[in-house]
Amino acid sequence: MSPNKKVQPTIFVIFGGTGDLNARKLTPALYHLFLDGQLPEQFAIIGTGRTPLSDEQFRTRLLDGINQFSRTGKADKKAWSDFAEHMVYQASDVQEATTYQQFSKRIKGYEKDWDTEANVIYYLAVAPEFFPVIAGNLAKSSLTADAERTRIVIEKPFGHDLESSRELNKLLGQIFTERQIYRIDHYLGKETVQNIMAFRFANALFEPLWNRNYIDHVQISVTEQLGVGERSGYYDGAGALRDMIQNHLLQLLCLVAMEPPVDFTADEVRNRKVDVLRAMRRFAPEDVRESAVRGQYGDGWMEGKQVPGYREEPGANPTSNTETFAAVKFFVDNWRWQGVPFYVRTGKRLHRSASIITVQFKDVPHCIFPAETAESWQQNRLIISIQPEMSIRLQVQAKRPGLDMMLNTVDMVFDYKGTYTSQAPEAYETLLLDTMLGDQTLFMRGDQVEAAWDLIMPILNSWQGRASQSFPNYSADSWGPEVAEALIARDGFHWFTLPLNGKH
Ligand code: NAP
Repeated sequence: MSPNKKVQPTIFVIFGGTGDLNARKLTPALYHLFLDGQLPEQFAIIGTGRTPLSDEQFRTRLLDGINQFSRTGKADKKAWSDFAEHMVYQASDVQEATTYQQFSKRIKGYEKDWDTEANVIYYLAVAPEFFPVIAGNLAKSSLTADAERTRIVIEKPFGHDLESSRELNKLLGQIFTERQIYRIDHYLGKETVQNIMAFRFANALFEPLWNRNYIDHVQISVTEQLGVGERSGYYDGAGALRDMIQNHLLQLLCLVAMEPPVDFTADEVRNRKVDVLRAMRRFAPEDVRESAVRGQYGDGWMEGKQVPGYREEPGANPTSNTETFAAVKFFVDNWRWQGVPFYVRTGKRLHRSASIITVQFKDVPHCIFPAETAESWQQNRLIISIQPEMSIRLQVQAKRPGLDMMLNTVDMVFDYKGTYTSQAPEAYETLLLDTMLGDQTLFMRGDQVEAAWDLIMPILNSWQGRASQSFPNYSADSWGPEVAEALIARDGFHWFTLPLNGKH
């Protein structure tokens, strides 16, 4: 995000070095930054976990991760060996004071060898119950005393509800300044998500139409084919609203609905996003039934394979009331958006994995064409497809070739793959580089996180207080429960799905 800035000498301390996130995302991202020449010569990664491993064993484990998960396939032998020289492992427990003394010794050692002070980034890729423990121990060991040079990166979930997120913010605030805290929502690092701002604020064409006078409604849909699988231990305490809507989907909504920032600085951009969250209509307890619906998947067949229902997943609670699907109708009560519904939905075990934002424009004020000319009359739509397809399409009506005046819907498409030959970086590459550069634009500020919790608390409370009698209420490979169709159909709309390959 910050062109022309150079990364200072940096030490990365990865808590959870033996974990899934590090193998799947963090090390592959750092490796690609290394390949792209983005990392300084003076650079070190200290991985930690309780598992006893030598440096060499640690590196081999992570090489396996690269070979399995890297966007560019198997690692190049020489490049990997050059990169791996920067990695060491420290077997230790985050709850013990000696762990931090060892870190301190290692950090001082690097700084002495490099003959310079280094930026130190503490990456908390561990379960959330360790966040306060690690933050407190870092502070006690004076490892965070230099506010300019030390940073902490925190993975979601950031709190379990409004109260716990406030507590965590308070605790972190006693140890770090806000400028040191990087709360990751990896959606914000995705190319297509970053492009929403470029699209809206680097083009004169759309902004005049981007309001209640021209926009009918907005849909944000993040659907997944995968079920919960082995993760029900974590997921059962979370659910779709906490796991997806509180963070990723509301952040997408903010990018669509925000006012133009004065400039592209972290605080300006984040202020405008917080404005959206503050303007969003709060739900009174009696409104929740009208505006929010939930679902849980039952068993079924997906791509020729029989799959279990949520309650039958390994380790799952057989009477679980956790939602694996949620859909909510939001309003943003300000001048720009008054009366425009924002429908969001997300769920697991759905027919297709896709993240799509659809902006549907109002109909023409008067149609001059006779009804029979329109084969498929459709209001204009702008569709921002985040994944797996990376595209922006504008759907317009056009004349079908031929002697008759017949109208048809056609797509004007900006397709990343067709336009750019270079591979898009993974979200974590962008976010890790930004952390090293000290650019917080794509990270969640404390007040942003709390505003998002505040908005969804009435729904969480209502769902917690009233167990669903209908779970499971959608089968695997469907588009979710009927109540979700009804939520949007009541207003005369339907959920939009992008046809495979974008073809009509
Ligand atoms: P994981 O595979 O279970 O890894 C947990 C890590 O914590 C392991 O490295 C484990 O090391 C370490 N650990 C546990 N107790 C410890 C202790 N007392 N002292 C030192 N280390 C300890 O979890 P994960 O999937 O990587 O997820 C980590 C965090 O990232 C979670 O908060 C998760 O919600 C979040 N997250 C993960 C993903 C993902 O794709 N995996 C995506 C988004 C967010 P040892 O077993 O060696 O002690």
